[in-house]
Amino acid sequence: MAEEKPEKKKLDLNRQPMPKQDHWERIRNFDEVALGYPTEVAVKEASRCLQCKKPLCNQGCPVGIDIPGFIRHTVEGDFGSGIRTIKETNALPAICGRVCPQEEQCEKSCILGKKGAPIAIGRLERFLADWEAAHGKIEVPKMSPKTGKKVAIVGAGPAGITVSNDLIILGHDVTIFEALHECGGVLIYGIPEFRLPKAIVNREVEYVRSLGVKIHTDYVVGKTRTVDRLLEEFDALFVGSGAGLPWFMEIPGENLNGVYSANEYLTRVNLMKGFRFPEYQTPVKRPCRVAVVGGGNVAMDSARTAIRLGADEVHLVYRRSRAELPARAEEAENAEEEGVIFDLLTLPVRLFGDENGWVREIECLKMELGEADASGRRKPVPVEGSNFRVPFDAVVIAIGNSPNPLIPMTTPGLEISKKGGIVTQPETARTSRVNIWAGGDIVRGAATVISAMGDGRIAAASMHKYLMNRE
Ligand code: FAD
Repeated sequence: MAEEKPEKKKLDLNRQPMPKQDHWERIRNFDEVALGYPTEVAVKEASRCLQCKKPLCNQGCPVGIDIPGFIRHTVEGDFGSGIRTIKETNALPAICGRVCPQEEQCEKSCILGKKGAPIAIGRLERFLADWEAAHGKIEVPKMSPKTGKKVAIVGAGPAGITVSNDLIILGHDVTIFEALHECGGVLIYGIPEFRLPKAIVNREVEYVRSLGVKIHTDYVVGKTRTVDRLLEEFDALFVGSGAGLPWFMEIPGENLNGVYSANEYLTRVNLMKGFRFPEYQTPVKRPCRVAVVGGGNVAMDSARTAIRLGADEVHLVYRRSRAELPARAEEAENAEEEGVIFDLLTLPVRLFGDENGWVREIECLKMELGEADASGRRKPVPVEGSNFRVPFDAVVIAIGNSPNPLIPMTTPGLEISKKGGIVTQPETARTSRVNIWAGGDIVRGAATVISAMGDGRIAAASMHKYLMNRE
């Protein structure tokens, strides 16, 4: 009698929707928009996974999470093992589950995506991290015996935190030096509360601290002490100082009052809690008509912040078309739902102010798309004579950032790229100085949380080899 074939799993092509705050409600608060999967929905979503023999999803993950592994545990209802699997390679799962561009990475490679919707990997990662936080003790991994080696980390953003996590587990003595009074980097001062609650960032920073990492805040390396001074005391040093130097458009009127860089605007509102003025003493202008220039995540965050601060009209002014928007699709949709008006194919060329120096109008040009440029996107070309003027009483410029210059400027012998980033060997994250490593936005320019974490993992592995005299 012929052997019976095992029953083939029926494809479920529709992902479970994520509950979120209604847009009418959420524009009046700074609470998190996406509410997370309830347990039964998470298990249902995880059950769609085909558990491929040769999974492609892992290959799209810069920190190499065992994705089918944690999904399998979720299906079985063994959430403890699920989160343990993630934490083997990722110390910040609640953050990555919320802000990683999964659609461009792990989910992009999911085989289900060829016919329908890929597995919601990020939402499941978030579910497990939140489950762990809600259900008792956060587990501490097995720690290696102490090596007696001392490592300094500059910057407590995702890159620095990842290196700290990996090196402390390997037995080294790790100290972070952070310029601001709070840890988390962009996660704390840039990404708004409604997308990434600060309690979650603090929780994940506290986890690393609980492993024994020492953290000095309000410590500006390059000013308080230089890298070379630190190296008199430490055996190795990692630079994860990020890309916090905002670009401007370099057009007339940019120095008018009411014109902000997105960095300043978001830092005032998030880190300095300007949205809770006067409880917190950080003033932020409450304008009626706000223009946010740019089309990435930073621009979306700024526009959605302006809506919540009570602006009557918020426009996103972007020089290419919707198809080229660099922001996550989910965030662009959220922004539109909340009432942000997209002025596409539009380029500001001049800002006009009143007699007191406050911005009042923007002059723009209409654009059309030409040939593809070096980035592969079609280049915006001005339509001659299409100038027009629009009234605005605040402008937020969110067109990009460069690496922070302080460490490059104060550390002799460090090779620096034309764009101001620290040059490293990609396979080790080593710099031109023998005991200095670097990663994240200080190397790549403004990039992503997970790429900064991926660099951190590579650097930690290479630093460990060096510290143990294996190189
Ligand atoms: P950072 O996060 O910038 O951290 C660097 C840290 O170093 C900071 O805490 C800084 O204070 C400190 N520092 C700097 N100089 C010194 C010094 N001299 N001494 C001591 N400390 C110093 N990415 C995503 O993946 N998804 C998103 O949705 C997303 N949204 C974003 C929204 C906004 C508004 C912004 C600005 C960025 C966003 N990004 C997003 C990008 C992402 O946050 C960054 O790529 C990532 O944080 C880089 O990590 P990092 O550790 O290299 O640097």
